[in-house]
Amino acid sequence: MPETMSYSGSCHCGAVAFDVDLDVSGALKCNCSICTRLGAVWAFAPKASFKLKSGAAEQGDYQFGKKSLHHRFCTRCGIESYAEGTMPDGTPTVGINLRCVEGIDVDKLSPKDWDGRSQ
Ligand SMILES: [Zn+2]
Repeated sequence: MPETMSYSGSCHCGAVAFDVDLDVSGALKCNCSICTRLGAVWAFAPKASFKLKSGAAEQGDYQFGKKSLHHRFCTRCGIESYAEGTMPDGTPTVGINLRCVEGIDVDKLSPKDWDGRSQ
């Protein structure tokens, strides 16, 4: 059952920190070249539900492939805590690396597999 809750997340050093309203029942893991390296488990939210609390000046912006996503990583500690993109309907969206979110036990979720490698 979809259940949106408020969470806080950050990079490792804490420079990049955010609040976000998320429904973790839609969690995904992806087999693309970056997600396999990151080991990330993702959940997605409209960008309107995301508030960057700190770290705007500390962030890098990594893009590859079709460059449809902005992978946001901390330039101090290197951790990618979220990515930004756009849904097919044009809605600005964030993908949150659930391993960077407080209060979520990723191992208790059952993330669906997403075949990002073939996209
Ligand atoms: Zn950091």
